[in-house]
Amino acid sequence: REVVKDFPVRANVGGRKKGVVHAVHSVSLELRSGETLGVVGESGCGKSTLARLVTRLLPLTSGTVEFEGRDITKLSRRGLRPIRREMQLIFQDPYASLNPRRRVGDIVAEPLRVHRLADGAAARRRVQELFEVVRLDPSHVDRYPHEFSGGQRQRIGIARALALQPKLVVADEPVSALDVSIQAQVLGLMADLQQEFGLTYLFIAHDLAVVYHVSDRIAVMYLGDLVELGPADPLYQAPLHPYTEALLSAAPELDDGTGAARPRIVLTGDVPNPIDRPSGCSFHTRCPHAQDRCRVEQPELREIEPGRFAACHFPRPAPTPRPQAQAVAD
Ligand code: SF4
Ligand code: MG
Repeated sequence: REVVKDFPVRANVGGRKKGVVHAVHSVSLELRSGETLGVVGESGCGKSTLARLVTRLLPLTSGTVEFEGRDITKLSRRGLRPIRREMQLIFQDPYASLNPRRRVGDIVAEPLRVHRLADGAAARRRVQELFEVVRLDPSHVDRYPHEFSGGQRQRIGIARALALQPKLVVADEPVSALDVSIQAQVLGLMADLQQEFGLTYLFIAHDLAVVYHVSDRIAVMYLGDLVELGPADPLYQAPLHPYTEALLSAAPELDDGTGAARPRIVLTGDVPNPIDRPSGCSFHTRCPHAQDRCRVEQPELREIEPGRFAACHFPRPAPTPRPQAQAVAD
């Protein structure tokens, strides 16, 4: 996929305020125009919080967010209004995010009214257009959410997100609540819409298989930190960070037909409490490769290979080609 190399979003967020613990400890990333950046990690790793910090739905305690070269960190609600149009969210649960007592056409039209872009017949026409865009029957705009299937409801959520013609769409677990067969349809639709409207996606999920299939680049989070960032294919083929390696080994459905089953890495120990972060590398309590240095020195995210970043003192080596079968002596 051709990716235009400008950066509509640069985010550098994290930190903690006195007495308040934030799910995001330290994350710095840039989104390229037209790309899908997948963010993956276990629940509680801070990925949803990251999405809300980037879109300024949550206040930052430290750091900055730039949108199209403009620092939006300190903008007031009012100052943010025009920016909000450019950044829209799609949520995990299409059941919970649609008001059951409102007609779906009104739900999709709401952002148009809030931003005073269209009302009455014009809004209705626009909603019907949006229904066609997400492949729903435009004659169904007067129905209620319960009259639609889960996949259709997520299409309604997508139509609502597209109503304002955003540049960035943040999708927080957009298919996690859907049946596997429906997931593929919704992901296919999102890919088509990205092409058609030049959208940039920040795509958040706990399911690495889903993230791998949709993303140009992947960001892996652990305990509020970015631990690996890089293009999807090399990250999947040869992860640099032991945590990424463990996540991949726990996803057998990712078997890509090469027949080389990944050794399964079982992480011992619970995810530590972010209030009581381990010293040094926050992954050291569960890392199979931890050494003394890991317990005392926090690794910075650094470029290990061109375009590939990891926060680890001992990043995994590139896999050596499998040796030829050798005749057994004796
Ligand atoms: Fe494991 Fe050490 Fe790397 Fe942390 S820095 S991921 S503990 S090897
Ligand atoms: Mg979440």
